[in-house]
Amino acid sequence: MITILSGGTGTPKLLQGIKEVVNTSELNIIVNTLENDYFSGVYVSADIDTVLYTMSNLINDKLWYGRSDDTFYTHDTLEKLGFHETLRIGDKDRALKIQKTELMKKYTLQKAVEIQKNELGINANILPMSNNESQVSIKTREGLMNFHDFLITNQSSPEVEDIIYSEVEPAEGVIESIEESDHVIIGPSNPITSINPIISMPGVKKALKKTYVTSVSPFIGDDAVSGPASKFMKAKGYDSNCVGVCLVYKDFLNHYIINNTDNKYKNNIEKMVPEVSVENIILKTMEDKINLAKKILQIE
Ligand code: GDP
Repeated sequence: MITILSGGTGTPKLLQGIKEVVNTSELNIIVNTLENDYFSGVYVSADIDTVLYTMSNLINDKLWYGRSDDTFYTHDTLEKLGFHETLRIGDKDRALKIQKTELMKKYTLQKAVEIQKNELGINANILPMSNNESQVSIKTREGLMNFHDFLITNQSSPEVEDIIYSEVEPAEGVIESIEESDHVIIGPSNPITSINPIISMPGVKKALKKTYVTSVSPFIGDDAVSGPASKFMKAKGYDSNCVGVCLVYKDFLNHYIINNTDNKYKNNIEKMVPEVSVENIILKTMEDKINLAKKILQIE
């Protein structure tokens, strides 16, 4: 069994490769839920939905958000009516979100996701990290800002002083899934807002120490491949590069994969992690994704 810790962009790219080279029924994917919230009357679990769409080949992998085959009639009609949506939600994507919102009146998020992933024909196990409500706030010079206001409305432009998020409990099966896996993979996701929320939950670091953990850096040189991870790392006092990410994971990391242009950091990282590999970790083509997946899983 393999467990993967995921956010909603970097790790799903790697998942596209992993799902081509393993039996997907052996995969447990634990997904960040910290940013989940209600928008336009529906529950939005953006990272979970991205993983659902990735695993069912429906993902819009230009935006890493929503479905590739969607239309926007509802969104456009809402705008004409004078209702501005913070998130531009596609019609088919909205249907999934309406179903999840309705299911959650009766069931936990975890159960709702299980029903939806089965309907989408996914045989991997997709586990929300937590069923608890949560909030992420970004402390900027102008004061506290809701995460989505920072990311979408303000396009991640304000200076970041801190990132503050709720403490939540792991969903049923999260700890067991990590402990019982032969291999845990922490994909190239945002260490501060996607992975740290998962590994900070009670019992998760202890479970990770008992198993073999591989991680792929989301940084190339001094910057993240995309998104605000660089600002977040600096706000938390880490270097904005693969060494900084390594410091976040070093207590339980067995194998760390950095980009082949970051060879200069290898010696430094070898003092913290038993195995370090230098590979192409820029995941643009299916070939890039499959190659990296095979290297992580040591498949020739
Ligand atoms: P979010 O939930 O949308 O923030 O997505 P994630 O946390 O899963 O992923 C965001 C991170 O993915 C960013 O820090 C990027 O640097 C990283 N990322 C995006 N594309 C790539 C890629 O092709 N290769 C690597 N190594 N990292 C990537």
